[in-house]
Amino acid sequence: MLGTFAFYYREHRGPSELEQTIVATCVHLCTIALERHERLREHQRLAYSDALSGLPNRAGFNLAISKFSHEDSGSWGLLLIDIDNLKIVNDTFGHEAGDGLIKRVAARIGSVASPERAFRSGGDEFAVIVRSQNGELDIAGTAFEILTALKLPAECGDHVIIPRATIGGAVPGPNDRSAEVVQQNADFALYHAKETNRGGFVEYTPRLVTTMTRRFRAVRDVGAALADNRIEAYYQPIVRLDTREIVSIEALCRMRSETGDVISAGEFYEATYDVHVASELTQRMLTLVAADVRRWLDLGIPFQHVGINISSADFHGGRLAERIAKAFQRVDVPLKHLILEVTESVYLGQQDHVIAREIQSLRSKGLRVALDDFGTGYASLTHLLSVPIDNIKIDKSFVDRLQHGGGSAAIIEGLIGIAEKLGIGVVAEGIETEEQARQLHALGCDLGQGYLFARAVAPHSMTDMLLRNAHPPTPARSTPARKPEEVSRVRASNATLAPAEADWLETAPYRS
Ligand code: GH3
Ligand code: MG
Repeated sequence: MLGTFAFYYREHRGPSELEQTIVATCVHLCTIALERHERLREHQRLAYSDALSGLPNRAGFNLAISKFSHEDSGSWGLLLIDIDNLKIVNDTFGHEAGDGLIKRVAARIGSVASPERAFRSGGDEFAVIVRSQNGELDIAGTAFEILTALKLPAECGDHVIIPRATIGGAVPGPNDRSAEVVQQNADFALYHAKETNRGGFVEYTPRLVTTMTRRFRAVRDVGAALADNRIEAYYQPIVRLDTREIVSIEALCRMRSETGDVISAGEFYEATYDVHVASELTQRMLTLVAADVRRWLDLGIPFQHVGINISSADFHGGRLAERIAKAFQRVDVPLKHLILEVTESVYLGQQDHVIAREIQSLRSKGLRVALDDFGTGYASLTHLLSVPIDNIKIDKSFVDRLQHGGGSAAIIEGLIGIAEKLGIGVVAEGIETEEQARQLHALGCDLGQGYLFARAVAPHSMTDMLLRNAHPPTPARSTPARKPEEVSRVRASNATLAPAEADWLETAPYRS
């Protein structure tokens, strides 16, 4: 029943024939009008809702947010949520699994925010309008609730995927309450979060703009330097603390300005948050370093190892092992001369094990992995048992604190003892004084790097240094090098090293 149609009369009677015709005609016209209205409603519903997720779509979002435009600041805020690595899910498990993931994420977001405030605003992007409750606005609270809800395993087609997403948020400022600005700011925060805090939440602050402007400038400058061949490899030696002979060197990236000044990485590292710039820089460094090592080998220098810093961006692009192998094969330099230096946050911050797998594959090709800046990030000693590492580089902050007594010496000594048992080499970084070198050596650390020995120098100066002071490689033993999985087994069982292991260690890098 959609409606009733009635005639009322002053006297008691039924409808006349004419009146019945009028009713029939009106009912017919009303039916047409009602059907048209229904159709319009359905069109509108389809225009404003997303068929896949069932949530309101971008148009629905635009309509909804426009109503908030001039509401008081403090009464609402906006979250923008973007699924992490959906392209990889599509490529690995197929588009259907990707669609399934979008549906699951939509449902979970809709269950945290009320469904009429959650929108699918783009391909894998969702928006949530957060309202204040009892005068309190807590967009961070809602963001974390969403992140927690997302984390549970989800069945997507035939696959089980743990959804991950990154969230940027913004609230209206006291001076600018327009919905458009809030949207722009949330977008900015999301972009920033994707680069610095994937899988987490970043709320917009005006300070983000300064950071991003600086970063954009760095990306532009490094991009120009890459195009003009103004990226150079400098080298800093790693020496035996007793004889000061060079056992390894670390390659460090430098940018030459248009006016010819050498700019150190600290001043442009922000450019490496850009995945493309970071992997192009690594590619350039691989080419430069491989060519320099070739030259040193041709000069008959008893060259041992060169360390190259690798960023998480290098792993995201995939094909890292292939890129490295190509760069070194092109000039016929064996991979055994290469050590990848990876910071602990890169290595251990990843939950998806992609990086650990890639590193394992690289190690199986003969190159080594050093954990850089050890002690500053996430790494704990237990990690050393579960991830394949050949060396650790003790961060400068521990070395700096040596002279002031305290726990630093005890930590370093303990670490050296543990590393030795696990078959891991140790290098102390940032040594600046003779006293630090002496203390480190007394604590059992054989190798060090720092201004006391040399700053990073241009390749020709490193050639001179190597010619004067390179430590000859330890002659190869008859015992074959231990395979990574065997080493992990030794580590996992925490066994004391048998003579065979000791043999392997002798041929490990950074060993004096
Ligand atoms: P990031 O972690 O940086 O967010 O990267 P991502 O792989 O998630 O890719 P990005 O957010 O940059 O782009 C979204 C991708 O999601 C692009 C497209 O391949 C995929 N996508 C967009 N809409 C759909 C859809 O309806 N279904 C499926 N299966 N995939 C979609
Ligand atoms: Mg995405």
